[in-house]
Parts: sequence; C-alpha cells; structure tokens
Amino acid sequence: MTCDRNVSTFSITPRMLMLAASLAIFSPHVLASEGAPATDPKIAAALEQVSADHVKASVEKLVSFGTRLTLSAQDPASIATGRGIGAAREWIRSEFERYSKDCGGCLEVKTDSFTEGPADRIPQPTQITNVYAVLKGTDPERANRIVLVTGHYDSRNSDTFDTKGDAPGANDDASGTAVSLECARVLSKMKFPATIIFLTVAGEEQGLNGSGHFAKMAREQGWKLEAVLNNDIVGGNKDPDQDRTVVRVFSEGVPAAADEKQLRWIRNLGGESGSPSREVARYLAEVAGTYSTGIKPLLIFRLDRYLRGGDHSSFNQQGFAAVRLTEFRENYTRQHQNIRIDNGIEYGDLPKHVDFDYVARVAKLNAATLAALASAPAPPTDVKLVTKDLVNDSTVKWSASTGATSYEVVWRATSAPQWEHAHAAGNKTQTTLDLSKDNVIFGVRAVDNEGHLSLTVVPVPER
Ligand SMILES: [Zn+2]
Repeated sequence: MTCDRNVSTFSITPRMLMLAASLAIFSPHVLASEGAPATDPKIAAALEQVSADHVKASVEKLVSFGTRLTLSAQDPASIATGRGIGAAREWIRSEFERYSKDCGGCLEVKTDSFTEGPADRIPQPTQITNVYAVLKGTDPERANRIVLVTGHYDSRNSDTFDTKGDAPGANDDASGTAVSLECARVLSKMKFPATIIFLTVAGEEQGLNGSGHFAKMAREQGWKLEAVLNNDIVGGNKDPDQDRTVVRVFSEGVPAAADEKQLRWIRNLGGESGSPSREVARYLAEVAGTYSTGIKPLLIFRLDRYLRGGDHSSFNQQGFAAVRLTEFRENYTRQHQNIRIDNGIEYGDLPKHVDFDYVARVAKLNAATLAALASAPAPPTDVKLVTKDLVNDSTVKWSASTGATSYEVVWRATSAPQWEHAHAAGNKTQTTLDLSKDNVIFGVRAVDNEGHLSLTVVPVPER
C-alpha cells in the first residue's frame, strides 16, 4: 500500500513527537499522496486578516452596554441610551450589516426572535433574539450544506435575575461573540461553494434558550448543518496558570440524538468515540496542523466541563455535530460575578483580564475550520463496512459526494484518539484493505482537486 500515509494531527507533545518520527519515515508519500491535507493559500491569506485590535474593539463595545442579561431592557428608549441587551443586539446587527456593505451585500443579516417563559430563570414572557449572518454558498449543488460558528452575547452577574447591575461578560461570552463577528468580517471577503452562518445567540445564561430555538428551527427546516463551532469563554484570561497556547475542544461521545439501533451498534462495535461531533473535533485538530493559527486544540472527549453546559449541546440534542471551544484554564472569580473586591480578591468579568491576541488566535482556528469545510466536498454518504463473510481483510464502500474528485479511507487503532493512517482510494467508491476490521476503526472522507477534505464518516456494518 504505497499510497498510505500517516495523518498529521495536532495534539499533546509525546504524540507529536511520535508523529514527527513517523512522518520523517513516510514523508515522501505524505506530500505525493492524493488528498494529503493541503494548505489552501487563499484560506491562509484570509487568516492573516484576523485582527486582535478588531476583536478588542468588539469585546469592549459589548461590555459598554453595561449588562446584556437576557432579562434586561430592550425597549426603544433603552436601546437609544445604549444600555441593556436590546442595545447589544442592535449593535451586533449593525456590525454584520457593515461587513456586508464591505463585500457588496454578500451577507444576509437575519434575526430569529421568539418569546420564552415563564421558565426557571425567566420570570415573565421575554423576547429572545438570535442575530446571524449568512454567507451563501456559490455552488448551487453545495449551497445547502452549512457550517456554523456561534457565541452567546447575553451575560450575567452573581444574580441571574439582576436586570440593572453591571454584567460585563467580557470573557463569558463577549469573547465568543467577537470570534463569530471576526470570522464574518474576514470570511465575507471570500467565496465558498458551501454556506457559512455566523451566529450570536441570547438566553444562554437563562437555560440555552436562544440556541435551543435556533437548533430546533434548523432541524424542522431540514438544514444540512454539518458542523457547529460554539465558542464560549475563549478570552484566555491572563492568570499565571493559564496556557495561552491551548484551547480546549469539548465533544460528545455517544450522540444525544442516537436512536436504539445506533446505540446497539455503538455498544457492540466500540463506536463510543466515533460521533459526528468528535469528527468535527478531529477536523479542528487537523486544521491546526495545516494552517498556522498559533493555537493548539486540546481535544477533550466529553460533552462539557463538570457542572456546566453550553449552546453546542442544543445542537447535539437536535442531531447535529457540534463542539465547544473554551480557554485552557478558567478563573471562577471572574465568571458570573458582581464587580467587587472581597478579601483582596478582584471579582468581575472585565476586559482587562482578556488576552485579545489569544481570542484572535482562537478566531483564526475557527475561520480556518469554517473555510476548509465550506470549501470541501460533501462528506461521503451511505458509508458501509461489508461484513457478510468472516474474512480478515476489510471492504469499505460509499456513495459519491458532490464536489469530490477522490476519497480517502482513514483508520486508527481502537484505542487511538485520532486518525493515524490514510489510504488514497482514487475516484473509486469502494476499496478493500488488507487489515482486519476487528482491530481498527475505519472512516472515509472526500477530497477535491485542491486537497480540501470533507469531514470523516465512520462506516456502519452491512451484511
Ligand atoms: Zn458562557
């Protein structure tokens, strides 16, 4: 199998050293191989446009609205005074519209508005508004494929019901909102065959209400939403214990929306780490190895942190692949706190604790991932592992993808976190490898003539 190669990944140091060693052995085939992860110079150039100054301006502007609590003021008079969530919402909308003006109206700026409550953290019926911009795909056959980046623009302080007190939310989550805005600003200058949505949601702190509504709308309308990147607390606070070279990427294992048949397959065949969300996480890791973003994704194989939740889970609930990006080490004296000094400890989520260069690096990783996915062919469908006979080799087959010129079969040890090997299958839609399916996990991905890779799809058994 001369066209096999080792897959380059970006993970913890010992693994990188191992890979470096193996790449040194196989490197002639790495570059020559059809479908090797290639750097797209247009994407690389776009990443250069990501600006820490612009991110800083966005975060400071969001903080300037005093509070962005979902229950805070949104009447026209408050919007005019620039205080409350209504003013923040209008500013975000105007920002997307400004970017759109700069690209000849390339963005469709929209809102998804609904009334929620009464509920646990919503004492009376409250209007919640998600604001988003759509960069429509240019290929009629691929424009219905969507990748999405999101952050929540609402904030809170020590009291989830305090509609008046300051809740700056610089890190949680003006940082994630700034990432979504910055991706929109930079990527709207490019064209992609598939569609990108830049989303900012409200209601996160009251119970994931905004993302819940949006994800449900996406499912009900049958969106082909392939990947959701949720950025929440990506400010890289400047504590000495922080590692400002790393961003954590959380992904669910067993999909929240898996049906009985899928659960049976996962239990019997070791599919606990093969969810579509985890494939998005693995894709992020590969992108970080391909493009210079200045940030290393640390893949965390769990839905979220202990005692915490986030907007990605709203999308998981509706059956979509979604991951959460969060700084390496959080500072809990800053999140969800009234601004004060107690026993010499400074509380409050203020911009001075945010590292804007870090946020910009996270924005680069997001932008590179969105751009790579929106440029790529559709992931293969009907991906099957033939299991009708007891044989020691493995036959994998799939249906052709729109935009693909070739395919790769990847595999890893059942105990390995990331794809380890790739076999270039040319433009065929079936291949047999001299490897026992009992000993490895396979995946298939589509490649175009510029080397853009689709997400990987794990085959299901076919008898
Ligand atoms: Zn948050």
